[in-house]
Amino acid sequence: MSKIDSSYDVIVIGAGPAGYVAAIRCAQLGLKTACVDNWSNRLGQPSLGGTYINAGCIPSLSLLESTRLYHIIHHEASSHGILVNDIKLDLSRMIGRKDEIIENLNQQIVDIFASNNISCIHGHGRLMSPGQVEITRIDNGEVSVISADHVILAAGSKPTEIPCAQIDNEFIIDSNTALNLKDVPKRLGIIGAGVIGFELGGIWKRLGSEVILLEAQENFLNTADQQIAKEAYRLYTQLGLDIRLGARVTSAHKGSKKVSVEYQDTDGSHSLRLDTLIVATGRDPNTENLAAPEADLLLDENGFVHVDENCNTSLPGVYAIGDLTLLGPMLAHKGLEEGVSVAEQIAGKENPINYSIIPSVIYTDPEIAWVGQTEQALRAIGDPIKIGVFPLKATGRAQAIGKTDGMVKIITHADTDVILGVHIIGTNASELIAEAVLAMEFSASAEDLARTIHAHPTISEAMHEAALALDNRALHLPVKH
Ligand code: FAD
Repeated sequence: MSKIDSSYDVIVIGAGPAGYVAAIRCAQLGLKTACVDNWSNRLGQPSLGGTYINAGCIPSLSLLESTRLYHIIHHEASSHGILVNDIKLDLSRMIGRKDEIIENLNQQIVDIFASNNISCIHGHGRLMSPGQVEITRIDNGEVSVISADHVILAAGSKPTEIPCAQIDNEFIIDSNTALNLKDVPKRLGIIGAGVIGFELGGIWKRLGSEVILLEAQENFLNTADQQIAKEAYRLYTQLGLDIRLGARVTSAHKGSKKVSVEYQDTDGSHSLRLDTLIVATGRDPNTENLAAPEADLLLDENGFVHVDENCNTSLPGVYAIGDLTLLGPMLAHKGLEEGVSVAEQIAGKENPINYSIIPSVIYTDPEIAWVGQTEQALRAIGDPIKIGVFPLKATGRAQAIGKTDGMVKIITHADTDVILGVHIIGTNASELIAEAVLAMEFSASAEDLARTIHAHPTISEAMHEAALALDNRALHLPVKH
């Protein structure tokens, strides 16, 4: 832990992607900066990076990659003429690899903080008034108050708890524990088929669990483009995920080494017996005890910090970024950009965020990624639109690597050709979407994409062909009559 001074230009509360990036950018801009974070690893030591590094994107992606490899060796290697006998799973090594990645990334932030002279405090931060932050150190409980001209709140979020399924972190668990299981559950239930539920379901399914997703909504992935969501539903059920829509869980109880779950759908009441139940019903902001009542920080009815479009809270010189607010989606890259934007505002620079083109990704296999508006949203507005779709299986690269599932879908304004949304399901969708985001950031038309040379053979050719398909001139599809 660094030496703590009594005053700073900026104090950041929280060192997740929003907070640590804000601290780095503030320091780069010459501001004397402190960052206080209360995350402790299993040894009680500080672990910077928040949910993103400790219990979110990074651990999830590490396990997704390991389980993807395991699945390939089991189910796909033989089609390449590779015969592997005696495949064994060492789950503790797999989890250990994930923990090493967390430690490496954590150390990377520690080093960057040190090189930028950022005071890094392992403690709980509480806003007392604009410019005054109370720090309670984790190691010795010592309490002090430090001051700053600006305070950035970046305390992030935690898994939502629901009364009908109380977390015991043994049988009924949250997403944090779901990334650290010691055994593969035989029968795993997940409440919530949103992004997190899906990613966790994919991980354990590939390791051999029977996975049942219980989703209260009737529509599958209702924020995604529904053509893509339907394809995802088809592919994931084909892979063996049991997705039950319109299923409202009414109770979940631990019995003798099993969890009993009751749920209702249009057919009536049902019960399930499971080995493990994951509750993945969303995330709540960490605003409990973030500000003293006398600070009078304005929150909305769900506890999120109220902000304007520039992340200013109701208090002068106090900003809120990342998962703590409802400005934009709860995603690491959204928080990270807000961290940069607020630091630059404090330093007198303007750097507004274009919230309309924040990409979303679901790291399943195949991946789903999108940016901009969905077909259903655009049809509801009634704007004239054109749609170009190109299936990945029509590219040489997809055939060669055996990843033929999925498509690229581009939606444009029918009169102006401006790109309004790009939706992808398929291998490497998370990387492919970057081209669409860049095109939309530069206000490109679909014709710009159609005239851009894409390397061959690559999956990115599907983006090129989808742009051509808007005018029925895709080169590797039969003509539509
Ligand atoms: P957080 O990352 O939550 O960090 C907040 C930090 O502040 C924490 O360290 C917390 O302990 C600390 N803190 C809280 N209160 C205080 C206080 N009073 N004093 C001091 N410290 C405090 N997003 C993506 O973009 N891509 C993904 O693939 C992705 N996958 C995910 C997978 C899972 C399983 C989960 C759970 C989330 C995933 N997310 C993903 C979401 C992403 O992790 C969050 O959007 C992101 O971490 C939010 O960043 P943040 O900085 O706002 O908050």
